[in-house]
Amino acid sequence: MSQRIGFIGLGAIGLPMAGHVAKAFDTVVWNRTRARAEELAQRARVTISDDPAALAKSVDVVITCLPTSVEVQEIVESIGGSWRKGQLLVDCTSGDPAGSRRAAAYLEERGVGFVDAPVSGGTSGAEAGTLTVMLGGEEPWIGRAREVIAPFAGKVVHVGPVGTAHALKAMNNALLAINIQAAGEALAALVKLGVSGKAALEVINASSGRSNVTENLIPERVLTRGWPRTFRLALLDKDVGIALKVLEDTGVPSDAIGVAKRVFAQGRKTLGEEADHVELIKEIEKTAGVEIR
Ligand code: NDP
Repeated sequence: MSQRIGFIGLGAIGLPMAGHVAKAFDTVVWNRTRARAEELAQRARVTISDDPAALAKSVDVVITCLPTSVEVQEIVESIGGSWRKGQLLVDCTSGDPAGSRRAAAYLEERGVGFVDAPVSGGTSGAEAGTLTVMLGGEEPWIGRAREVIAPFAGKVVHVGPVGTAHALKAMNNALLAINIQAAGEALAALVKLGVSGKAALEVINASSGRSNVTENLIPERVLTRGWPRTFRLALLDKDVGIALKVLEDTGVPSDAIGVAKRVFAQGRKTLGEEADHVELIKEIEKTAGVEIR
């Protein structure tokens, strides 16, 4: 039986994800700023809903892609009595484990399933429909979640119970943050010594220090001085904070990730809420008095 899907949160990554869902399922969307929903409706077959509760009433599965678990909980509670037994919420937000367990408990009381399903692969992966999706939850909800995320997923891994996918996503992004900071510092020093950014990356990317940051982000965004805005630094700072909390909760040392949290929180303060995550390297360049080229 074909399911009807509701998609809430048409931001930088949510909009292309919803576009893929709309190709496979009858899809209803809601976005706080209606213009974004109208933008999607121009290129995809979607119905625009007036509010989250009306959307929930008319679908089998709701997908959310919001900044944090706080906004997800607000939406879940605003739908309130409009949830129906047997429905499922698939939360693609990079949320926090405690927030996902709270939402899951609220929904379970109403007979509604919850799966945390954060994504990795950036806006380009979302456009291409090749995102890596990690799933936290139990069967039979996991099986149903797999069906509805398939249109935008390249790789799907069920990692454990509710909240574990959000923990894993936060750890992945903490590693991303550390890589941005470390690669920015390393390259700034090398450029000051007269090594071009291009030559340095040619060696690093054929050696053990390479990462997605050195292989893709720096060549495409820093060396070109393009600095596109696809993933807000504020959201990465939020993710590193979630990772730090998971480390604290599990009694694991947090020296490296603790430094990344301090650096990204400062970058967020200086660069503002709209800056891209890679723009942290601009701050390193400024302090070092050099441009990585
Ligand atoms: P954006 O900031 O681009 O979009 C946020 C979305 O949430 C918008 O649709 C916004 O609506 C909506 N929103 C914000 N606050 C509220 C609220 N109080 N009530 C209702 N709706 C709200 O974020 P992204 O799309 O980049 O990210 C979404 C999630 O995906 C985040 O958790 C992020 O960490 C994660 N992510 C992002 C990636 C990326 O490359 N961008 C990569 C992987 C994960 P409005 O249009 O009205 O502002």
